[in-house]
Amino acid sequence: MEEYEMKVTKIKNGTVIDHIPAGKALSVLSLLELTGKEGYTIALVMNVKSRKLGIKDVVKVENLEINPNLLNRLALIAPEATINIIRDYKVYEKRKIALQDVVENILKCNNPTCISRQYNEPIISSFRVISKKPLKLKCNYCMRYLNESEVIEQIVERSKF
Ligand SMILES: [Zn+2]
Repeated sequence: MEEYEMKVTKIKNGTVIDHIPAGKALSVLSLLELTGKEGYTIALVMNVKSRKLGIKDVVKVENLEINPNLLNRLALIAPEATINIIRDYKVYEKRKIALQDVVENILKCNNPTCISRQYNEPIISSFRVISKKPLKLKCNYCMRYLNESEVIEQIVERSKF
C-alpha cells in the first residue's frame, strides 16, 4: 500500500492521476480544464513519497472519466503520469499518456504579432512537437519556438486560480 492511500479515501468511480512530478498538481488541473467549479469532488495530494519519483503529487477526480484527448496534454508537464479509471472501487482501465505530434489550442505563441494571437482572427494556436525531451515546440503559423520552461510558465500562470 502506498502512503498516499492512507491519506485519501478510495474513490468509487472516477479518475486517479498518479506519478505527477511534485508541485505540478495544480498545473495538471489547469491542463484538464478543471477549475473546481464543475462540482466534481477533487482530491489533490502533494509531496508524497514515491519509490519511482522521490516525491510526487496525486490527483483524484470523483465521478469523471477524463477524456483521453485531455489526458494526453499532461505529457507536456507530467510525461510519467499514470492514469487509472476507477469503476466500483476497482481499477477498470489503466491508460498511458502520449504527447501528440501537434498540440492545438492549449498554449499560446510567444510572438505577439503571430496570426494565432490576433483576437479578430478565428485561428486556434497550433504547435508541432520538435522534441519531447527536452520539450520543444514550433508554432505552425510563425515558426517561433516554444521551449520547456516557456510551456511550464504558461501552464503555471493559468493554474493560479
Ligand atoms: Zn506563432
